[in-house]
Amino acid sequence: MVRRRVLLNPGPATTTDTVKMAQLVPDICPREEEFVKLMKGLRQDILKTVHADSDKYTAVLFCGSGTLNMDVCLNSLLPEGKKILIINNGEYSKRAVEICEMYHLPHINLKFDVDKLPDLDIVEKTLKENPDIYLVYTTHNETGTGILNPVKEIGALVHKYNGIFVVDTTSTLAMLPIDIEKDNIDFCMASAQKGLMAMAGLSFVIGNRAEIEKSKNYPTRSYYCNLYLQYDYFEKTGQMHFTPPVQTIYSTIQALKEYFEEGEMPKWERHKRVWEAIHKGIKELGFKDAIKKELQAGLVVSVLYPDDNNWDFKKIHDYCYERGFTIYPGKMSDSKTFRLCSLGAIDVKDIENFFVVLKEALELYDIAVPVKYN
Ligand SMILES: *Cc1c(COP(=O)(O)O)cnc(C)c1O
Repeated sequence: MVRRRVLLNPGPATTTDTVKMAQLVPDICPREEEFVKLMKGLRQDILKTVHADSDKYTAVLFCGSGTLNMDVCLNSLLPEGKKILIINNGEYSKRAVEICEMYHLPHINLKFDVDKLPDLDIVEKTLKENPDIYLVYTTHNETGTGILNPVKEIGALVHKYNGIFVVDTTSTLAMLPIDIEKDNIDFCMASAQKGLMAMAGLSFVIGNRAEIEKSKNYPTRSYYCNLYLQYDYFEKTGQMHFTPPVQTIYSTIQALKEYFEEGEMPKWERHKRVWEAIHKGIKELGFKDAIKKELQAGLVVSVLYPDDNNWDFKKIHDYCYERGFTIYPGKMSDSKTFRLCSLGAIDVKDIENFFVVLKEALELYDIAVPVKYN
C-alpha cells in the first residue's frame, strides 16, 4: 500500500506496514481514560525492553526526538555543587558536551580518539581526582562511527565512586540486548524511531526512580525538559504533562507488540546478520571500514570514501535513493566516510539488493571496482 524504502541511515528506521497503519486511528483527546490506559501499558512495555524492574525503574516519556532525552538527563540530574563527566569518543557524546555548555553546567569533557575505546584507567583516575563528579555520561553505540563502548565496565567504576551513570542507548536499545541493572546503568534512553522501528516524535528515558525523586530538589534549568516535572505528572495522572504525539504512540504500541513477537535475541541475530551482509558487500567492492570490525556494535558501518576522482557521494546517494535505498553521510571530522546501518525492519535480502544497485552506480559514474585507496 505504501512504498517500502530500505533505510540504511542510522534512524529513523524502515518500519513494517502494520506499524505504519497503526497510526490511522479515530481522533482522540489524549486526556481520555482510554488513552491513559494505553500509556500505562506502553511505559511498562518500554521497561521490559531493558529488563528493568518496575519497582526500581520507571519510563518517562517525552514528545520530541532522541536528543531531547540527552538534554533532559543532563539538565535535570545534576545536584548543586556537583559536576558532570562526559566520556567522549564521538559525535554523540560531543553533543552532550554542547548541551552542558548551553546550560553552563560544570563538566569535564574527557576526550578519546573516535576510532578507539575509552581508556578505563584514565576514566578511573579522573573519577578519583574529582570527587565532585556526580553524573557520568557516555554513548553506548557511537552512531557516528559504529563503535561499541564498554558501558558495564564504565558503570562499575562510576558506582565505585558513588556517581550515577547515564548512557545514551538511542542506537542500541531494542536491538543489542541491554539489562539495565546488570549493565550498571542508572539512566538510559531511546526514541521510538530507532530500535523499536516505530515513528519519530516519541522519546523516553528509563531511569532509577529514587534518583528521579531526589532530583526534585536539584537546581532546575528547563521547564519543558525537566525530568522530575514530567515524572511527577505521570505518577499523578498517568499522562504526559503536555500534548503527546498521539499517532506515534499508537504506532509504538504496535511496534512493541511486534518486538516481543520477534523476540529480543532473534531480533538481535537479524540485525547482526544484516550487519555481516553489509560487511560482505563492502568487502566485495573493495571498500574499507573506518573502525576495526571487532570494535563495532553490529549496527552501524562507517565506510571510507575511496580515493577516486570520480567518487561523488551525492551522485551515488541519489542513484540509490531513486531505487529505494537510502545511504547516509558519515560523522567523523578527520576522515571522509558514509554510513550503512542494520537498523529497522530489513533483512539480508535487502542488503544484497542494495549492493546490486550500489555496484551499478559505481559503474555508471566510472568509479573503479574494486574501489581504490592510496
Ligand atoms: C539518533 C541518536 C540520537 C538522537 O538523535 P535525534 O536526531 O534527536 O533523534 C541521540 N543519540 C544517539 C546515539 C543516536 O543514535
